[in-house]
Amino acid sequence: MKLKKASFFLLIFHLVFFLNAQERKNIYIPDIPGFKTLKCDFHTHTVFSDGMVWPTIRIAEAWLEGLDAVAISEHIEYRPHSTDIVADHNRAWEIAKPIADRQGILLVKAAEITRQMPPGHLNALFINNANLLERDDVFDALQEAKDQGAFIFWNHPGWKIQQPDTTLWWDEHTQLLEKGLMHGIEVYNSNEYYPEALDWANEKELAVLCNTDLHVPVQIVYNLADSHRPMTLVFAREKTQEALKEALFAKRTVAWFDHTLMGSAEWLEPLFFASVQLEDKKVSLKNNEVATLSIQNSSDIDYQLELAQPTIAFSCPEKIYLKAHHTTQIELAGNSEEITDIKTLNMHFLVTNVFTGRHTNLVVNLKIENQ
Ligand SMILES: [Zn+2]
Ligand SMILES: [Zn+2]
Repeated sequence: MKLKKASFFLLIFHLVFFLNAQERKNIYIPDIPGFKTLKCDFHTHTVFSDGMVWPTIRIAEAWLEGLDAVAISEHIEYRPHSTDIVADHNRAWEIAKPIADRQGILLVKAAEITRQMPPGHLNALFINNANLLERDDVFDALQEAKDQGAFIFWNHPGWKIQQPDTTLWWDEHTQLLEKGLMHGIEVYNSNEYYPEALDWANEKELAVLCNTDLHVPVQIVYNLADSHRPMTLVFAREKTQEALKEALFAKRTVAWFDHTLMGSAEWLEPLFFASVQLEDKKVSLKNNEVATLSIQNSSDIDYQLELAQPTIAFSCPEKIYLKAHHTTQIELAGNSEEITDIKTLNMHFLVTNVFTGRHTNLVVNLKIENQ
């Protein structure tokens, strides 16, 4: 159909008028050797199940917060808006995907299989067709997800509505593990931390997940001006769906919420040392003398250090707070003649806001040459 000249100009005017420019504050969490650090939220909802926003809003929020990947994981079995929103289980993903592609966000196709405890709620990521997950038996639903190649994790294991007194691991979860139907577990969901889940992740070799389970707009739940949403950091070879999936199955993840990191030392230690660098290459410390050392934290993550064991022939502060995007200067004091013979000064610190288990912290060795 031919446009008249006037309508053509009107159309151009509208296109120009509605083109947006937007800005965001970038999150800075460094990559680690060999891997990109992807900032992800694998658990959100929209009006297509029991959420309160349209699917494209989840992408806009993710972009504004600097996320790399997000999953819209609608409940298969709970759809309170279904008289108003008449659609199949894939529809939210279909609506959001073109916007996600345009904004450079990886939108993971997902669903939340939603049952009574046991086994509770489980998210299946990287599925092809959510409609096929509508099954009477939860094991059939999860097997279908597995057949589609899904990465499956247990959501909010300590949710008080389902586990009011004690957070229990049920026989059904052992069966899920044995059948290869569970690969990860949320140690943190929304605003809740589940210490038991961190221990289970370690014991049963599950990937650690940390997600929002957003139902309402993100800024209603989190103070984004001063903080960030809880997220799963994934160490992937590149920023693609395939690489993300490979990294999840390989359990290269850590949880980041508030001022806290949780996961395996295998990933937390390189993340710490990618964030924190000693500015000085060496010091020259002698008995009864003082040397200064500058430590730079170039990440968004604060680190709190507490001396884990006594230092030899010198002393250093018992506690150090390495504030995000700041350089901290500390003093070292030689306290024995032996110091001149020690070529490497070792300082073993507990990182008290970085957890490798419910009661264990990451230990790092800050070391510097002494000449
Ligand atoms: Zn749930
Ligand atoms: Zn949910």
